[in-house]
Amino acid sequence: MLRCKYCGAPLDKKVLESDSPYITCSSCGTSQQRMDAKAYLDQMMGQVQSWISKTLPGGFSLSQTENVDSVARFSIFNNNIRPRIDTEYSEYRFAANSLLSNPLMTLPFTTDSSAVAAHSSADAFGFNARVKSIEPLAVDEASKNTVISAEEMSTGYAMLINNTKLLREDTPGRYILMANNFSEASAAFGKIKGYGPAEDRLRALAGICTGCEMLLNGNSAGSLSYFENGYEQLIGVRSAVSADLNLGIMYQAVETEITQAKILSDLAGFITKGIAADPLEILNTVKRIMSFNYAKTGKWGFLLGNKDRFGEVFGNLSKVLSAKAGGTLPITSGAGEYLIPFWDIDLRYSFQSGAMWAKKSVEVKEDLLIPADFVIDFECLNNPRSGLTDIFSIRPETGILSGIKGTETSISGGEGIGRLSDTARQNPPGTRKIAVPLSTEKEAKKLVSEYLAVCTNQGSRLKLSNPYVKSLIYIPCNIRDGRVEVPAGFGKLIPERVKRMNLSQMIIV
Ligand SMILES: [Zn+2]
Repeated sequence: MLRCKYCGAPLDKKVLESDSPYITCSSCGTSQQRMDAKAYLDQMMGQVQSWISKTLPGGFSLSQTENVDSVARFSIFNNNIRPRIDTEYSEYRFAANSLLSNPLMTLPFTTDSSAVAAHSSADAFGFNARVKSIEPLAVDEASKNTVISAEEMSTGYAMLINNTKLLREDTPGRYILMANNFSEASAAFGKIKGYGPAEDRLRALAGICTGCEMLLNGNSAGSLSYFENGYEQLIGVRSAVSADLNLGIMYQAVETEITQAKILSDLAGFITKGIAADPLEILNTVKRIMSFNYAKTGKWGFLLGNKDRFGEVFGNLSKVLSAKAGGTLPITSGAGEYLIPFWDIDLRYSFQSGAMWAKKSVEVKEDLLIPADFVIDFECLNNPRSGLTDIFSIRPETGILSGIKGTETSISGGEGIGRLSDTARQNPPGTRKIAVPLSTEKEAKKLVSEYLAVCTNQGSRLKLSNPYVKSLIYIPCNIRDGRVEVPAGFGKLIPERVKRMNLSQMIIV
């Protein structure tokens, strides 16, 4: 059987029977000339031959195996072959286990380069070919088991190695290849003792990949059951590996995959529910949301680099789409053709007012608003002041504290933001256009914490309680020349982020 010259995988019989001079590998997806695949096979078999001649006792040829009695075969296997295979097998087994400890799925339109294999797939397929070559010498149960485990382990591992490459690039059709590789790997691990949970996990992932392919082709209804089944199966795998000494290393990875399966079934669910919109159009919105260049490093990398956040983001997108189809959203009063989402934050702080004997603590309650798309603006991440209504900007702390007379009731200026946010009521958006919120509640909370850290960093007398995220609200705004105009209620506290918003980059539905 010909071998792919790029990854070493045996090429499909189906493909080989065609007359075309070009063949496409169903494991890595690369096309190549038939003659190149033939040349690669010859090279590989040459390496197998040289390994055999180094491994078998001098003068013994595999072609004579049929004429050699089983006692002699048993002896050759255990004295010459086993020591070499065992060493390599345990190396591959270790590497495969460590690959299995990584999440092996990625959501559509995203890439993941965290899973890195210690070998190339060609290495693993090469080992597989060597073990296959000495199969006839395995006569007893133990030898046969060794051969089967080594063969299947290397096949399953090689298939997963190919998938790690597919995870790194968002190429069209990658989910078909991944589904194929997961199925093959699942079947392979299924034949190795103790790898049942890996077999189940990879089968679940194969189904989820098939679902992704359908979803990307606009068949969200068809994809839904693949995601739901995959989710159920992975839940089963998670409980199976929680007490498994060998495969317990998969636990965290399976958790991540469960979250992905949940996100996918939610996504397929709300696309399927119709909501009058074209599924491909919604998918395009999803694509734009997922393919933003979110911060992957620095203090925001931990939150924004974690794809679990998309669960909440798509939850909010789903609410927006349902509102467009006749539902409601918390919308503040006022005119404006565009509904722009903001996080409404309740902030309480206290400060020392007065001097010496007249000192007293003053408690203040303020409302902060955060534009819910701040996560795509690196300025906001670097300078939290620019991502919210900067209430301390109007009366900076340093200037204030020196001159406090004990009659101050506040050192911030909320400018009536609270009055604006308090008007939010569940109302249908009507024909107004809606900007999609791109951040999560946790991220909003972090922005406020970062902001407070900036405001209180110099031996401050400010005391702040934990900010509380009240809700996501939608404020009617107008757009002029592509720029957002917020209502007068913001006063002087228009977040810098809002001034930088540009209609062409906003995700509007
Ligand atoms: Zn290939």
